[in-house]
Amino acid sequence: MTSYRKGCNTYEELLEYEKESHKARHRDGDKCRLCGVSRWPHTGGASIITHHLDYKSNKANNLITLCESCHSKLHWRARKLRKSFVGPQ
Ligand SMILES: [Zn+2]
Ligand SMILES: [Zn+2]
Repeated sequence: MTSYRKGCNTYEELLEYEKESHKARHRDGDKCRLCGVSRWPHTGGASIITHHLDYKSNKANNLITLCESCHSKLHWRARKLRKSFVGPQ
């Protein structure tokens, strides 16, 4: 099995990731799935990140949208717990 160490290894994967991440953003309404903050208003322009649930796939069903602060909290917690479900980015 090939490893997806840092997300995308090839141009095709990058394209697929772009497409799928777009789908995920649409599905989630460009909002953070944890705290519900949306990209634009009164947040000072919080950026919305697509997060991989799992290392193995770039499909939309493996991506969720999170704001920067929930995203970093999630990764911080995951590092602490050494959970494997948190993806590379
Ligand atoms: Zn959030
Ligand atoms: Zn992430």
